[in-house]
Amino acid sequence: MVFWLKRMFFWVVFRLDQMLPPSLGVLVRNRTWPWGRPVLDAVELHVTDHCNMNCTGCSHFSPFSPKWFADIPSTLRDLKALRARFRRIRHVNLLGGEPLLHPRCGELVAGVRSVCPDAVITVVTNGLALRPARDGTDGPSAVADAFLSACRENRARVKWTLYPPMRAFRRQVQEMFRKAGVSLRIEEGDEFWARLVPEGNVDVRKAFRFCRRMMYCPYLRDGRLYTCAQAYHLKDVAAKAGFTAPPAGGMDVYDDALTGREMLRRLMSPCAACAYCADSVRLMRWSRGGTNAAEWMRRDG
Ligand code: SF4
Ligand code: SF4
Repeated sequence: MVFWLKRMFFWVVFRLDQMLPPSLGVLVRNRTWPWGRPVLDAVELHVTDHCNMNCTGCSHFSPFSPKWFADIPSTLRDLKALRARFRRIRHVNLLGGEPLLHPRCGELVAGVRSVCPDAVITVVTNGLALRPARDGTDGPSAVADAFLSACRENRARVKWTLYPPMRAFRRQVQEMFRKAGVSLRIEEGDEFWARLVPEGNVDVRKAFRFCRRMMYCPYLRDGRLYTCAQAYHLKDVAAKAGFTAPPAGGMDVYDDALTGREMLRRLMSPCAACAYCADSVRLMRWSRGGTNAAEWMRRDG
């Protein structure tokens, strides 16, 4: 019942959305300053591309991504180059894939803090690696322990997307974070959005506007800044769904001719990948094990 009410709610909101002017939130976030370097509100980095949850409908297409671990020195070099264009980067979000599959995730957290001393750093995890050790103690596993120490020492917070398989561990994990002194935010993961349109014939302005009203998620990867992670990772699902993804585009963060102001401007313009995202969504219940690309596609009903 709740699921269907939500589905109806989103249907109405998304249709209303197309009639409204751009949201104040987006305009405020992307305000530029009349002098000096501007502020970048947020940037996302993948720590890994692959994931141990494999949710059907994953917006970063992780179930289709080959195993990939971020190379720490080059990731930090890219972040430093990007940081140099801006007075400040407000939020750095480390995600994937599942960040805790990277054996040196804690090191990356520390590195990001050294490049962006004043940013809010958030690691987004599904928490599978945070399950208490199975040796009879309630303490965290060695992986979780090292990760928590790095978060505490570098003032990073954790957003735990709580999917059904982890719900039984909720209290134990909360207690683990409390003891470790690390800020934890829990977001229940009950639903996913299907938006993929493999024909690539969506009005890019509409699709982009729909997105930016809700999300501001520039993505840094291999020395380039993309409008979003989907623009880069569309190729992963395209190979499976039998279409050819457009070039991911992106901006070279080492290009001296590109100012922070110009980057902000381009981040507020649709990219070629937007033609593959519907300007509305099909809401579906969370499930695991997705590798059927058809489940990612927007269908009426
Ligand atoms: S937990 Fe699910 S949504 Fe998150 S990255 Fe993994 S597969 Fe994607
Ligand atoms: S490709 Fe465009 S429409 Fe799709 S998620 Fe990214 S910004 Fe949004």
